[in-house]
Amino acid sequence: MARRIPLSFEFFPPKTAEGMARLQQVRSALAAFDPEFYSVTYGAGGSTREPTLAAVQALHRAGCPVAPHLSCSGDDTDGVLDLIDRYREAGITRLVALRGDLPSGVGGSGQLVHANELVALIRRHSGDHFRIHVAAYPEIHPEARGYAEDIRWLGAKFAAGADTAITQYFYSADAYCHFLDACRAAGIDRPIVPGIMPITNYESLRRFSVRCGAEIPRWLQYRLADFGDDSAGLHSFGTEVVTRLCERLLAAGAPGLHFYTLNQAGATAAILRALGQAESA
Ligand code: FAD
Repeated sequence: MARRIPLSFEFFPPKTAEGMARLQQVRSALAAFDPEFYSVTYGAGGSTREPTLAAVQALHRAGCPVAPHLSCSGDDTDGVLDLIDRYREAGITRLVALRGDLPSGVGGSGQLVHANELVALIRRHSGDHFRIHVAAYPEIHPEARGYAEDIRWLGAKFAAGADTAITQYFYSADAYCHFLDACRAAGIDRPIVPGIMPITNYESLRRFSVRCGAEIPRWLQYRLADFGDDSAGLHSFGTEVVTRLCERLLAAGAPGLHFYTLNQAGATAAILRALGQAESA
């Protein structure tokens, strides 16, 4: 049997009670793969503050280990500290600490500018209570001034107290392997877990990838576009491509996999089954 892969599953916070009920179904389907934790995204500037809190509390009440995302751009420091306190009091022990991307047109009024400052704030305020995850970019953050400089800033997040990183998604195993080598050469020895985006809808993946700076290789764009309305064909091809990617990443030393589930269980579960991950009853 395939070795057990350390897993985490990312959700976005539903805005309605029906959405939350659906998310609990997705969560319970994915629980069969025994993840280390679930994470819940946070809209920069506090735009999903209440829905994120509600989803985190609901998952926590259901007995799930959960890591709320927390971003600093556009949030004032008191608001960030208030959230940290609420999570600590609720018994949450992990956070994903980010800068966040404010929607265009929204000005950033936050006192904290970069994620390393947020990590330092969490450590000053809460000591070692939280395990802190930060973001990393094997294809380099779109605003970065250079490859080495982006890695230097990742190093600054670890120096400020982060424990581990989760990457932006990508479809080139080489990008991850080179990035790991460059991080090690820069003295970064913490786990860097690849973020995995299943392929279920080409148009929305293409749009989102342009926004976040993730590259869909040209050959893959053409293959995916050819499926047109054949969503069953696209799902099956997407599962094959992403499964192979995961196999290569794990062989290259990836310490686990973090899935961007988009609040759906099917595509993530199909990849995990193809990777030989058994589902518990
Ligand atoms: P930073 O680490 O601050 O880096 C941003 C840029 O600034 C980089 O180009 C870096 O090279 C540079 N830089 C870093 N530190 C410094 C410094 N001290 N001085 C000068 N330059 C610096 N966004 C959300 O809004 N909500 C979410 O829930 C969310 N979840 C995410 C989860 C993961 C796993 C990932 C990979 C991304 C997520 N994002 C989320 C997106 C993220 O907020 C954006 O990619 C954002 O643009 C950068 O966030 P960061 O934490 O990497 O920022």
